[in-house]
Amino acid sequence: MEEQTLIEAQDLSRLYGRTAALSGLSLALRKGEILGLLGPNGAGKTTTMKILAGCLAPSGGSVKINGIDLAERPAAAKASLGYLPEQPPLYPELTVDEYLGYAAGLHGVPPAQRADAVARAKQACGLGDVARRLIHNLSKGYQQRVGLAQAIIHRPPVIILDEPTVGLDPIQIREIRALIKDLGQSHGIILSSHILPEIQAVCSRVMIINKGRVVYAESIERTAQHRMDSLVVGLRRGPDAGALRQIAGVERAEQLEAGLYRLTVAGGADPREALAEAAVRNGWGLVELRSQAKTLEEVFVELTSGEVTLHETLQEAA
Ligand code: ATP
Repeated sequence: MEEQTLIEAQDLSRLYGRTAALSGLSLALRKGEILGLLGPNGAGKTTTMKILAGCLAPSGGSVKINGIDLAERPAAAKASLGYLPEQPPLYPELTVDEYLGYAAGLHGVPPAQRADAVARAKQACGLGDVARRLIHNLSKGYQQRVGLAQAIIHRPPVIILDEPTVGLDPIQIREIRALIKDLGQSHGIILSSHILPEIQAVCSRVMIINKGRVVYAESIERTAQHRMDSLVVGLRRGPDAGALRQIAGVERAEQLEAGLYRLTVAGGADPREALAEAAVRNGWGLVELRSQAKTLEEVFVELTSGEVTLHETLQEAA
C-alpha cells in the first residue's frame, strides 16, 4: 500500500522571549504510524504538539498537514487533524452525546451527518454505555475517551495526543493504549509521553527530544537493533578471546566461563553474520548467539542526561 505522508514539519523553531523552546525540529508522519515524542520535562513536547495542531505559531519553519500548508490555509489543514491537548477540552455539565454533537459541529460536520458521526466516535472509543451521562460524573479514563472521541469525530486522518494517559489508573491506561493502537491502524498518530514503556507498547516510531532538539529518531524495532550493545556467544570448541576480537565489528571479547563469551560490539556494527561464518570455518561449534540491546530507557537516559551527543543519531528518513 502507498504510504501517505500526513504531517511534514520542516525546521520548526519556537522562541519564548529569549528562550528557545524548539530549534530545528523536522518530522514526517505517515498513515498507519504511531510516532511517540519522548522527552524530559520542558523538552519541548507540548510546544511541538501545539505547533503541529495549529494552536501555536512557530517562530520559524513550516508544517504541512495532509499536503496543506498550516500557515497558508489553516482551516483546510486543520480539517485533517484531531487534537487532544494535555487538558481535554470538555464541558463537564454536558452529557457525552450533547458534547460530542457540539464537537461535531465545531469540526464542521454537516448537521445531517452529526448523529452518525457521534455514533461512530462513541463506538470507536467504547462510550456507548455512558452516552447519556454527564461528563463530570465519568471516571477520568472515560473522560479521556470522550476527549479522544472529540478528536476523531470528523474522521481526520491525523490525530495528535498530548500525554493521553496522564493521571489514569493502570487499567484505564491499558484501555486507552489499546484504543490508540486500534486507531493507529487507520490514522497517523503523534503522541507525547515521558513514560518509556508507553512509547514501547504503543508506538511504531520514537523521537526523543531534549532541550528543544531532536536527539534520536528511529523505529521502535530498529531501536533495539541499533542499540545492540553486546553479544553473548556459546562455542563448544571456542578459541582464545583474542581470536574473537579479530572479527569485524567486535570491539572487545571476554570469556565468561568455559565456552561462553561476551563480545562488545562497535557502535552501529552487527558482527553476528561474520561471527557465524568464522565459527563454521574454524569448527568452533556455535551453540548460542544472543544479542543484548540497550533498552529504550537506557537510550533515553544516555541522550537526555549529561552532554552526550549521539553521533549515530538518525534523523527522519523523509
Ligand atoms: P512537560 O513534559 O513538562 O509537559 P514539555 O516537553 O511539554 O514538558 P514544553 O511545555 O513544550 O515542554 O516547554 C518547553 C520549554 O518552553 C520549557 O522550558 C518551558 O518552560 C518553556 N515554555 C513553554 N511555554 C511557555 C510560555 N508560554 N512562556 C514561556 N516559556 C514557555
